[in-house]
Amino acid sequence: MKLTEHFTLAEFERSATAARLHIDNRVPAELVPNIRNLCEQVLEPLREHFQEAVYVTSGYRCPQLNSAVGGVANSQHMRGEAADICPLRACPSPDPSPVREGRGGCSTEADICPLRAASPSPLPNRGGVGGGACSTAAVRMVPDSTSPEARKKMREWAEWIMDNCPFDQLLRERRGQSCWLHVSLRPSGENRQMVRKIERKENKGKEKN
Ligand SMILES: [Zn+2]
Repeated sequence: MKLTEHFTLAEFERSATAARLHIDNRVPAELVPNIRNLCEQVLEPLREHFQEAVYVTSGYRCPQLNSAVGGVANSQHMRGEAADICPLRACPSPDPSPVREGRGGCSTEADICPLRAASPSPLPNRGGVGGGACSTAAVRMVPDSTSPEARKKMREWAEWIMDNCPFDQLLRERRGQSCWLHVSLRPSGENRQMVRKIERKENKGKEKN
């Protein structure tokens, strides 16, 4: 189901952890408007402004999935009000098969059809990007939560969201080498415009938002 021009409901249900643990992470119908609201007010404007892909690393989490990934008990992910996002980057490889979780040094969370929202192409001379294909023999787009470029980009995204969008929480989260941006929006009531930076050591410390 398409939510906005560049975001689909499937992106919010996708989870490597849910797949591995056979958790049914489909979004209940009554929560779909919350996710659409987040896309309309924040993610689509962000994507439109920067003209680059916004990859959802964690969207909706059913309670079981939220527990499995160590989410906080009242996580807004469970209400369809939050998304964790990061950029994509090109991953040159002769292997056209999908990236596997934790393999290949490309990504840790990549059960993806990675070129979904990659147009206009970040690799204008390579061709194929943005044309609907999922990969080419030469280049794949993979989530990038670790490179200095990705961190810089996420700082820019955060600053732009702060200046241009309504939001409830905007968190720059970091666990080990991975960084992501957590952004949430309540469909009604007060949005707190709360901004924080959260850093943790690998596999230690507090739960995820
Ligand atoms: Zn989050």
